[in-house]
Amino acid sequence: QEKLNALKENTHNTVNALLSEFALEKAINVDAKIANGETIGLLEGIPFGVKDVYMLQGTYATASSDLLKNYKSPYTATAIQKLLNAGAIPIVKENCDSFGHGSSSENTIFGAVKNAVNPELVGGGSSGGSAVNVAKDYTVFSIGGDTGGSVRQPAGYNNVYGLKPTYGRISRYGLMAYASSTDCVGPLAKSVEDIRIVLNAMSGKDTKDQTTYTSEVIEESSILNATNIKTIGYFKNFIESEAIDAQIKEDFLASIEKIKAKGIQVKELDFFKSDILVSTYYTLAMAETASNLSRLDGTNYGDRIDDKDLKESYAITRSEKFSEETKRRIVGGNQVLSQGFSDEIYLKGLALRDAISENFEKDFEAVDIILSPVTPSTPPKIGDSLKDPLAMYLSDAYTVGFSLGQLPTLTVPQGTQTGLQVTAAKNNDELVLKFANFLK
Ligand code: GLN
Repeated sequence: QEKLNALKENTHNTVNALLSEFALEKAINVDAKIANGETIGLLEGIPFGVKDVYMLQGTYATASSDLLKNYKSPYTATAIQKLLNAGAIPIVKENCDSFGHGSSSENTIFGAVKNAVNPELVGGGSSGGSAVNVAKDYTVFSIGGDTGGSVRQPAGYNNVYGLKPTYGRISRYGLMAYASSTDCVGPLAKSVEDIRIVLNAMSGKDTKDQTTYTSEVIEESSILNATNIKTIGYFKNFIESEAIDAQIKEDFLASIEKIKAKGIQVKELDFFKSDILVSTYYTLAMAETASNLSRLDGTNYGDRIDDKDLKESYAITRSEKFSEETKRRIVGGNQVLSQGFSDEIYLKGLALRDAISENFEKDFEAVDIILSPVTPSTPPKIGDSLKDPLAMYLSDAYTVGFSLGQLPTLTVPQGTQTGLQVTAAKNNDELVLKFANFLK
């Protein structure tokens, strides 16, 4: 009850605290079930948070946007339904950057999410509410969404674990689409073990998402034994970049030394420059979001501002109810997809994505794990990112490449508000958890 009250008071973490009442009722039922000797689920009674971009029947699904602020989920997302089936209790829909557009959780109608460690700083984004709720123990775990870093970056900023699994491991059905080719469902929690349990509960093939595949359950015993990890690598140009904060560089190199001391071989790897990664990601993400968000016209979805002319109604609704950041992306996305630009920009983006994936395939012939800082910089002050969107995009430099490669990648908290990013080859989520456990 105490935690729920605290959660309700922290309105910047939440978009719908009413779920708490529902939660209390369910929690009391768990006690009754146990007392009656009934079988209980693996996550029975565990309170969790859900980024407000997921469908959860009976709750609002606003995407922290003005356009959808009155929209109610008509059904429940597959990933969330699987957690409900295991007995977990959703207690809050969580504040985030509108439609996942952002890296600071300031692009929201509910007010900026405040960092759990220092409330003058941003909570990170776009899954900022989810990371802060886990950090503050309001939820045992939260389900964020990661398209280009939105689980990993706020996890780093708030000192918790945050996993972006291999693309397709968890169904996206019922997750509002941002950039469908990199959108991933991702858990945040305070331990590798909790991440493992929640990942297992949500994984699996789903006929409602054709990109999903069947994966094996990751056993507890298999992540305890890391003897098959012999070599790790890191991208030299990430660490030698002028953009990296001096303290982040020092902390990262200190971690590398510790790993070497444990007998693991470390290799320096070559990779694409940050500006190429960021521009490739934003070209594709903006193109995909322009297409995905075209259905949000106030008629099919969302609140409509009426005009005599239907097309005008669409235009007014979208102009008034999308945020500046979302409009910037829709306009940019439509531009790169339009005739005369698509060959020059969009197709080039697709080709670069292939080249990035090939680079990763080569890397993973030489190393088992790639390590990187999560971000080149520490969390900015609230208000700064809104003034300089380009600087915000560049702060995604170390996360977006792994998204384009569709790889499994995890933020391991370092107590430094940035975190260490642990990445393995496709479908090797187990190795990521193993290495994270080894780092403990
Ligand atoms: N910050 C990145 C963006 O704005 C990633 C967001 C996300 O993963 N949803 O696109």
